[in-house]
Amino acid sequence: MEWWMSMPKVELHAHLNGSIRDSTLLELARALGDKGLIDFSQVEHVILKNDRSLTEVFKLFDVIHILTTDHMTVTRIAKEVVEDFASENVVYLELRTTPKKNDSQGMSKRSYVEAVLEGIRSVSSVDVALIPYTEDHRNLLDPLCSATNDKCNGDGRKKIFVRLLLSIDRRETTEAAMETVKLALEMRHLGVVGIDLSGNPKVGEWKTYLPALKFAREQGLFVTLHCGEVPNSKEIQDMLDFLPQRIGHACFFEEEHWRKLKSTNIPVEICLTSNIRTLSVPSIDAHHFVDLYNAKLPVVLCTDDSGVFSTSLSNEYKVAASSFGLGRKQTFELSKNAVEFIFSDNVVKDELREIFNSAAKNLE
Ligand code: 5GP
Repeated sequence: MEWWMSMPKVELHAHLNGSIRDSTLLELARALGDKGLIDFSQVEHVILKNDRSLTEVFKLFDVIHILTTDHMTVTRIAKEVVEDFASENVVYLELRTTPKKNDSQGMSKRSYVEAVLEGIRSVSSVDVALIPYTEDHRNLLDPLCSATNDKCNGDGRKKIFVRLLLSIDRRETTEAAMETVKLALEMRHLGVVGIDLSGNPKVGEWKTYLPALKFAREQGLFVTLHCGEVPNSKEIQDMLDFLPQRIGHACFFEEEHWRKLKSTNIPVEICLTSNIRTLSVPSIDAHHFVDLYNAKLPVVLCTDDSGVFSTSLSNEYKVAASSFGLGRKQTFELSKNAVEFIFSDNVVKDELREIFNSAAKNLE
């Protein structure tokens, strides 16, 4: 196994519906095509296309969401996505997804998230630690593991920590965003740790989401924002002034934004392949990762949408190593540093640090 694959990794920016296997998407599309509900040949073409602009990516998400409307499918994709990350030695995964209401399927935002959690719990190829220790002391008795329950992998089985972030879609109203935050609060004891703001960056206004994001932070939820995916100087400034615990992308930052970012030390979730594919960054050589990394600012490599962009977290580390001349030890340190930016408590961080320290011995 190549070292970037066997190295432990931390994934902090992965959208559930963007991480679906192509094979699963095609299977779902074929089934709907057979029922005459969609034109399979049209959808197949969209799924298999490789390079997409940012606008085309959001069109693809509309197609994906037509294919993944029922609870059973949501549960299936959540299970497969966790299995896929675990299989490439991701030891901690923060998965994010937008709770969806769909009356025709009897789906509420809550039942959608329950279906996602059911999928995560049903993973059997690896032990899953989902319930935050600090949220529920009963999980010490939970056979599905707690952060401190070492019986879970005492038999040498692999273990992955999984946490869920609920996304607010930029198309949503203040009320809908607030509903998502309230849901996250009610589901904290089940593994929901924070809120993400995502969706088409050309749509919506910061002031619409602000009340819900403020409320989330007041209530102790972690917040991460998609920030600077398109040129929008005022919004970037407003987002940085909000002081989220992390931001994603930061592609269209201007000098004043970099200054603010540097002074606040907000960690940046970097999605190399996604940024190149969507042309948010002209080429890998021009990617802002280099400046942030050289300035020793907090950065973490992530996939964004491993299915949509045909990548994996191992591949993102491989691309960073080869494009920016990082050696094996530097790449390992980059991966290990991500532990410091996770939305989990010190118990989890300590366990992850131990995993990395023990893996570091193989580097020598
Ligand atoms: P879901 O939330 O349905 O599980 O995952 C797909 C959704 O995540 C998309 O519909 C979109 O709202 C959001 N998303 C996925 N990738 C990106 C991205 O690169 N940028 C932004 N702003 N949103 C994204």
